[in-house]
Amino acid sequence: MVYLDHAATTPMRQSAIDAWVAHAGARNPGSAYASGRGANAVLQEAREQVAELLGAEPVEVIFTGSGTEADNIGVRGLYGASTSKRVVCSTIEHPAVLEAVRTLEAADGAQVAWLTAGRDGHVRDLSPLDQPAAVAALMWANNETGAIQPVREAAERAAAAGTPLHVDAVQVVGRIPVDFHALGATTLAASAHKFGGPRGTGILLARRSPAPQPVIVGGGQERGIRSGTVDVASASATAAALSEAVLDMEAETTRVTQLRGYLVRGVVAAVPNTLVTTAEPALAGHAHFMFPGADADSMIMLLDVAGIEASAGSACSAGVVRLSHVLEAMGVGREEGMGALRVTLGRTTQREDVDALLAVIADTVERARAAGAMR
Ligand code: PLP
Repeated sequence: MVYLDHAATTPMRQSAIDAWVAHAGARNPGSAYASGRGANAVLQEAREQVAELLGAEPVEVIFTGSGTEADNIGVRGLYGASTSKRVVCSTIEHPAVLEAVRTLEAADGAQVAWLTAGRDGHVRDLSPLDQPAAVAALMWANNETGAIQPVREAAERAAAAGTPLHVDAVQVVGRIPVDFHALGATTLAASAHKFGGPRGTGILLARRSPAPQPVIVGGGQERGIRSGTVDVASASATAAALSEAVLDMEAETTRVTQLRGYLVRGVVAAVPNTLVTTAEPALAGHAHFMFPGADADSMIMLLDVAGIEASAGSACSAGVVRLSHVLEAMGVGREEGMGALRVTLGRTTQREDVDALLAVIADTVERARAAGAMR
């Protein structure tokens, strides 16, 4: 199997598996007796490690059940903590943020000012941030194109207007350096399975003030921001994965950047009329292509048959393939956008994996274009 979908999820690191196994028997970290205190000590160590690796204080680290949950708490929780109904959000956010904002719009009458992206996938006009709002959201890097967004400038401008900023850093944490305090955001979301930790564990970094309101209520764990007994084994595995990712970051970025260059040159040379969507600054592992006229679904199926796993740039919901909202927001037309392919490289990717894709890509796109012609 050739796995080229590291932005969707990446294999768990051995260090994370070892940490998880070591603490799989941990009891309730909220219990006052010995086994509870033992579990809590493991949890606090994980919290301290994560805090140090991401430039935060331990008290600012909230373990959640996913990146999606961290995003929801950031957006809905900060909105709930304000009396304003104004929200600023980019049009290219992951559904975890976008749907949270749309829900506020539909259910609470929130007024949304949108940050728009250009054809290269980058948000440039940050002026909606200059008016105060309950919350603003801008992702650090887009999951489809890999485009890195101007989050530092956004944090400055939001702070100047007194607006708390939520940054979805799910694609970024473990891939590029993150310093929460230096960034100046109010909340930041990460997801363990994107950097070699377990699936089903997220991190929300949340400043002491303004603190997001909880979106689910219960026993008041994690500063009352995220109730529910914390999964100690997963928190420990997350910290282990993150420290390894941060340690390997520089070397991995260099290695993956070279591999991606080789991949992009190969695809452009092999397939006529290829558009490379990913534009710098971008994450090193992301290569997003558009093959006008091709049918993305056919492409994914043909690659799958060849033992290659990659992702369509178009979103499939309820069996209907639609143009991805990210590409649509960038002003990409259907002809191009429906023939999108996202290839994402990661820690386990070798040159042979790229060669395997290059060996079949011309034929795959030709056949997918024939299928697209019948659409
Ligand atoms: N935000 C971004 C940018 C993502 O890429 C993802 C995952 O695909 C998420 C949020 C959601 O993370 P999780 O899968 O942990 O819910």
